[in-house]
Amino acid sequence: MAMERLDILGTLSEEAGRLTRPYASESMRRANEHVAGWMRTAGMAVRQDNVGNLRGRFEGSHAGGLTLLLGSHLDSVRDAGRYDGPLGVIVALAAVQRLHDGARRLPFAVELLAFADEEGLRFGSTYLGSAAVTGTFDGADLDRVDSDGISMRAAMRRFGGDPDRLGDDRWTAARPLGYLEVHIEQGPVLEAQDLPVGVVSAVAGQARHRVTFTGEAAHAGTTPMDRRRDALAAAAEFVLAVEREARSHPDLVATVGQLTVSPGAVNVVPGEVALSLDVRHPDDAVRIETTRNLLAEARAIASRRSLDVGAELLVESSSVRCSPRLTALLARSVQDLGHPALQLASGAGHDAVAMSDLTDVAMLFVRCKGGVSHNPAESVATADVAVAIDVLARFLELLAQS
Ligand SMILES: [Zn+2]
Repeated sequence: MAMERLDILGTLSEEAGRLTRPYASESMRRANEHVAGWMRTAGMAVRQDNVGNLRGRFEGSHAGGLTLLLGSHLDSVRDAGRYDGPLGVIVALAAVQRLHDGARRLPFAVELLAFADEEGLRFGSTYLGSAAVTGTFDGADLDRVDSDGISMRAAMRRFGGDPDRLGDDRWTAARPLGYLEVHIEQGPVLEAQDLPVGVVSAVAGQARHRVTFTGEAAHAGTTPMDRRRDALAAAAEFVLAVEREARSHPDLVATVGQLTVSPGAVNVVPGEVALSLDVRHPDDAVRIETTRNLLAEARAIASRRSLDVGAELLVESSSVRCSPRLTALLARSVQDLGHPALQLASGAGHDAVAMSDLTDVAMLFVRCKGGVSHNPAESVATADVAVAIDVLARFLELLAQS
């Protein structure tokens, strides 16, 4: 059932032949319709909030009790796989369905949040859905426009929400018991360890810089080698230094993914190179120190080559520690089902990062084939999804007992 539902959602796309489901699109509307129907089948009361999140609520045994939040996102990247996001929604639905089928009520309510935008494909902004729930939505984002010139404000309205009432989406009831998200790993660790699921310890923090080396453009034929101030040669040294430094720290990943060479002609010594530097680590202190070392290395390279270098911080987010209490319960749920509870850090960002502003968070990763994600080849095993559903059901039992 879960796999069939994921297959159905996998067909809802803005592009023929591949899965592309941006925020507030027609395909998102159809995804919400399907998920809303499944929520009702699981005994949930359903509503769509202003930003476009679908919220299904399964009441607890008594009114006025606390609420556990479950969730993940229904939007996708361009040419996506069908599991990044929807898997977490469908697994949560299955666990609630089990409660409903057994006429069980927990001592707390369960609210399933199917977020409208995590990937930021349409408007270049991430966590729109979860930010509305936590009350951290930046109103200036409403003026962003998509590639067709449609503003976020207009898109939201067309999707049925009121952009002037985003404040109503904010969670104002008593502090939730926590937020739990099931997600595909998007990495190779669980497959290498031959485990169906893993418990997330932290989501890595990250910093993105733009580093610009400035030398002097010169004629490729007439400028002797010892007279050149080649910005690309400096950038090349830097790229290798980044790789070397990242390899020397466990759990550190650092990437130069963009390189813009000016003037970029075959017969001109490059005068300027702008490059991106993305550094991530679950421990912020390690990330900050490494980044500082790398930028010092960039200055050393530039000075040896008589160039200038500048660095601009574009994005920085702190790492998020998962709740020790919820994570221990989750680990016990995994063990109760006969599997070792491997803990691993997430290098990718997730809605749980935004939700940590509101409440304690925990995450369960599901093994994916070859660690491949953000790719139509994304694949999870039916048996692993069944384990994830069992783990979540067990987690709800344990939380009810605690
Ligand atoms: Zn995701």
